[in-house]
Amino acid sequence: MGQSVTPVAREARLLTLSIDLLGAAGFDGYLKLHNPAWNRALGYDDHELATTPYIDLIHPDDQAAARAVIDRMANGGTTIEFVCRIRRRDGMWRHILWSGQGAPDDGCFYIVGKDVTERRRLDQELENRAERLERINAELQDFAYIASHDLSEPLRMITSYLQLLQRRYGGQLDETADEFIHYAVDGAERMKLLIDDLLRYSRVGSVEVQRVPVDADAILEGVLRSHEGAILESGATVTHGPLGTVQGDATQIGQLLQNLIANAIKFARDDIPAQVRIERVDEPRQWHIVVRDNGIGIEERHAERIFKMFGRLHGREEYAGTGIGLAICRRIADRHSGRIWVESAPGSGSAFHVAFPDGS
Ligand code: ADP
Repeated sequence: MGQSVTPVAREARLLTLSIDLLGAAGFDGYLKLHNPAWNRALGYDDHELATTPYIDLIHPDDQAAARAVIDRMANGGTTIEFVCRIRRRDGMWRHILWSGQGAPDDGCFYIVGKDVTERRRLDQELENRAERLERINAELQDFAYIASHDLSEPLRMITSYLQLLQRRYGGQLDETADEFIHYAVDGAERMKLLIDDLLRYSRVGSVEVQRVPVDADAILEGVLRSHEGAILESGATVTHGPLGTVQGDATQIGQLLQNLIANAIKFARDDIPAQVRIERVDEPRQWHIVVRDNGIGIEERHAERIFKMFGRLHGREEYAGTGIGLAICRRIADRHSGRIWVESAPGSGSAFHVAFPDGS
């Protein structure tokens, strides 16, 4: 025969087991009832808990707020998620999150408390870390910008004096000297390209991205128009379908298209002229475009490397460039919470995909 258990005994068991602080606090300032979680969490024995005015356990800075909450409950009010610091027997302060309900007829308020000290510490630590990361990021950003900006000035001076040397003394010195000057001018010009690209890269990170509806067709037209000469000269054919509207930053989207199109033309095969096609892929909730070419292609194992800073697969003699263009594209995609990736194989062209969320 099963033993009969009274509801009260059952509830008492639950009170004993609870890891939360459960209690009834009298409006006379003393605890009337508490479960063992109080003893475990705060270290006081039953007698101490019953005879110490509970307001004395509250941190002096939190007492006024606690009094206001208790006053509300004295009128039958309810309190949800009130946090105050409670002194443990060993003198340490614990943050306790309280919910309570006043019961004027019983002369007390009923409360449930959860020790959130650890959770608050972790939250605080996370917050500090995020702040620190943000600061370091901003410093790096400033550094990259200032370094590339300040390097431009002395470089301009080197370049102009070298050019002066070349103009004024070219042909008057011996052949070797002419050659040295030529290399120096060449090096300075390449350095200028690098610095300009670095500046572009750091600018993408430093400006706040304004996400507004952008007419991608108009942007593409602009990019194609400004590259008309280069396209004609290379013998490339560039065609496109409608790209529609995208939520984003017009300047950055222009930069992205221009980098991808310039690459599609630059990395053409020797034997066939470049054919470039820019299209939108019809997908819900995304603005997904593809820039496809019939160029030299990329081995699959390099498909990630090319998006890294200075990730180049060829020497300068083969194809000019700094290796920063696709790193800029990746950064632009990141700033739009989007993705950029390539599908390609050597000899069979490349398809660069860009997908931004919330296209319309
Ligand atoms: P850059 O063009 O200055 O070299 P990018 O960052 O734009 O730098 O490109 C990185 C590398 O990715 C290129 O050097 C090239 O090896 C490869 N790449 C980029 N676009 C293409 C393409 N359309 N076809 C083949 N290879 C490409």
